[in-house]
Amino acid sequence: MDKIYDLIIIGSGPAGMSASVYASKAKLSTLIFEKDYPGGKVVKTSFVENWPGEERIEGYELATKMFEHSTSFGSEYSQSKVVEIINDGDIKKVVTEEGTYKAYAVIVATGTKERKIGIPGEDEYYGKGVSYCAICDGSLYKDCDMVVIGGGNSALQESLYLANFAKHIYLVHRRDTFRAEETLIEEIKENEKIDLLLNYVATEIHGNDVVNAITVKNLLTGEIKKIDTEVVFPFIGSDPESSFLKNLGVLDDKGHVIVNEQLETTIPGLFAAGDVIKKELRQIVTAVSDGAIAATNAYHYIKDVQKKNKK
Ligand code: NAP
Repeated sequence: MDKIYDLIIIGSGPAGMSASVYASKAKLSTLIFEKDYPGGKVVKTSFVENWPGEERIEGYELATKMFEHSTSFGSEYSQSKVVEIINDGDIKKVVTEEGTYKAYAVIVATGTKERKIGIPGEDEYYGKGVSYCAICDGSLYKDCDMVVIGGGNSALQESLYLANFAKHIYLVHRRDTFRAEETLIEEIKENEKIDLLLNYVATEIHGNDVVNAITVKNLLTGEIKKIDTEVVFPFIGSDPESSFLKNLGVLDDKGHVIVNEQLETTIPGLFAAGDVIKKELRQIVTAVSDGAIAATNAYHYIKDVQKKNKK
């Protein structure tokens, strides 16, 4: 007979890793699927300053510690992409590119994927000067001029990180106020290597084999200018990684999973946690909290289903 896991967790960012700690400590047989690498967005984050207990820690280090912890109590980990979940009553079938796996409950913790600006040159020069990961690629452009696009926490935080390598940074933002933490805004304004291009949008990325310039347009005056640069980092937010759930009727119009306070969806046994859900504050601490809540409620749900099926 095919193995039926107690719980399958999809995604190994902070929410999935926290759910795994809680589930495996509660002795649930648990399988985690991850399509890329463990750690989620934290791995690509240069530094984290709001994880209690660590005034400042590199994203990679925090993610590595979390991953080691998340598999230390017996959860299995598999690098596979989930393409569909089939709701078969008390059993959930999780279809991956390699095969189908069964569980009594599933926690979706797939997070988000980077949003594209959608301008000419962005796709063409991806990996050739267009990058969505400062920590992966920043040091490759030591002493170069760089362009960062966006006005949220990611754009500001990663600009500060990139300033360690860059000759100069142009931070292009479409408004004249930021949606980032005050401390980051202050640091950005004080950093002499960072030039703010406010009320500007990027309209085209140019290159030959690799990026060599970007065109930006002032939204107030219509002025257009070309900035020479070898690298462009768009950090303009992200969209939920949830297309594999589209047939289940659990998504809102933006693709976030709709859950109640117990982090249950409308499908019994299907839970969701972290950045993929519809919520206000997307932070590592809130994702980790979601993971704990989802796993604890999944535990009670699984025990009830198993008791019912024994009768
Ligand atoms: P975000 O907060 O959604 O900010 C996206 C930024 O990109 C906004 O400034 C937005 O402009 C701009 N933008 C969006 N679409 C654009 C477009 N088509 N063209 C030009 N600009 C565009 O995204 P994020 O910075 O990636 O952060 C995602 C979540 O993670 C947030 O909840 C954030 O707080 C959290 N986070 C937290 C930390 C931290 O605590 N230190 C670090 C990183 C991320 P407008 O402002 O005009 O909308």
